[in-house]
Amino acid sequence: MAAPWQDVVRDAAAVREAAAVATDAALLAGVLMRTAEQPHASDVVNYAPFTLLPSAVPRALFEQAYAVQQDFNLLVDAISQNKEFLEQTLASTIKVDDFTARLFRIYVQVLEEGLAQTVFLGINRSDYMFDCGLDGTAALRQIEINTIAASFGGLTSRTADVHRLVLKVLGKTEEASHLLPNNPAKGLALGIAKAWELYGSPRAVVMFLVEEVQRNIFDQRCVENELWNRNIRVIRRRFRDVFERGSLDASRRLFVDGQEVAVVYYREGYVPQNYDQQNWEARLLLERARAVKCPDIATQLAGTKKVQQELSRPGTLEKLLPGHPEAVARIRATFAGLYSLDEGEEGDRIAATAIAEPDRFVLKPQREGGGNNLYGEELRQVLEKIKDSPERTSYILMDKIKPQPALNYLLRAHSPLQVSECISELGIFGVYVRQGRELVLNQAAGHLLRTKAVEHADGGVAAGVAVLDTPYLV
Ligand code: ADP
Ligand code: MG
Repeated sequence: MAAPWQDVVRDAAAVREAAAVATDAALLAGVLMRTAEQPHASDVVNYAPFTLLPSAVPRALFEQAYAVQQDFNLLVDAISQNKEFLEQTLASTIKVDDFTARLFRIYVQVLEEGLAQTVFLGINRSDYMFDCGLDGTAALRQIEINTIAASFGGLTSRTADVHRLVLKVLGKTEEASHLLPNNPAKGLALGIAKAWELYGSPRAVVMFLVEEVQRNIFDQRCVENELWNRNIRVIRRRFRDVFERGSLDASRRLFVDGQEVAVVYYREGYVPQNYDQQNWEARLLLERARAVKCPDIATQLAGTKKVQQELSRPGTLEKLLPGHPEAVARIRATFAGLYSLDEGEEGDRIAATAIAEPDRFVLKPQREGGGNNLYGEELRQVLEKIKDSPERTSYILMDKIKPQPALNYLLRAHSPLQVSECISELGIFGVYVRQGRELVLNQAAGHLLRTKAVEHADGGVAAGVAVLDTPYLV
């Protein structure tokens, strides 16, 4: 499944010329990030890292990933409403993982009080790799689904234009015309706007809940601007601002700096480092509010690795989505092997197998954001150490996906131009809105292709490992 420009990859002069055009085009198109040196400034910025060339993606797998997205939206939404499932599934995890336990405590607390929120908005991104079988055919395998702060929907709305230009510079005009349009920013904004409208207070604002350090601000601005285009007011606040200046009125309407908030869109809050005691209190305040949270805490919990692993057990999908056998089949077809490390015989057996053959597996803690997984020798050492302790339960095991590498150039500021063997990960954005029990919007909202050098086992774009890419369907 090589792309039709593997011929030019070794043409140093052509590559140099194309790279110069590409980086300027990225800056012009707004494929931007704040710099590591000045992470708070927008007056010195640089292009976000991206590939020189689009990467080949098998058309059938690309279409399969789009076709299953509404099913995944339905599934995540169903899990978020199923207290019994979340309780049972996370019972072992919350005994050993403090972060998941704290989220879970808030979840239970707001349910006991009774939800004030009646409109629900989900924005997720289901990520896949293309597993290369022994016979050379590729299969779509889900890596994970991100139910909170799924990023790069904004910047990736602009990368196809850059790659189209690069292909033209390289004399591939015909191929350039085949690159697909892609605008997740618009799709995400559509969902946020729908939730805002159903909340039903025209003067209320959408609040982006953002990090202290906002290097990826331009990605978020793409979505913000789509909302302003619809005449919806957007404010950006941190947990700290909510703690200091946020409040609920008697009917639990949320006010921050005197403005009523209709929708809280979290681009933060998914890792323990995002929280100190005040931030936990702010999170609780937000969850108790009538405002639409994207996601609410139940939906965040639905995106944990432990939930993903339990979904792969025979019969679980059927129970969660009764009456949807076709959706169940489409979802299951994307699953890789996933294994529980809970205490007991099943966990003992798979732990022993992974210690014997570590290269077959990935060991994953309940963390997000890249750079947390363990592979190979490190996986073996950690599992050896924790195999007889309850700590083992805070991880899951997954079959390692082995994609076919292709040559490309990863363009990064201040880095030399050199060819790398690369593999890609395809993400599909999903958006849905539910009012009470009725799903009023359920869509796939666009895609994101991220590519990294094969020598990096782990890590996303924000982690500095993967770069933005555009799929070229083959
Ligand atoms: P995170 O929540 O940190 O993004 P992921 O499950 O997405 O966790 O894993 C991070 C990265 O590790 C992925 O982007 C991918 O590059 C790699 N990875 C994860 N699972 C697998 C797997 N089963 N096989 C191969 N690589 C994987
Ligand atoms: Mg990931």
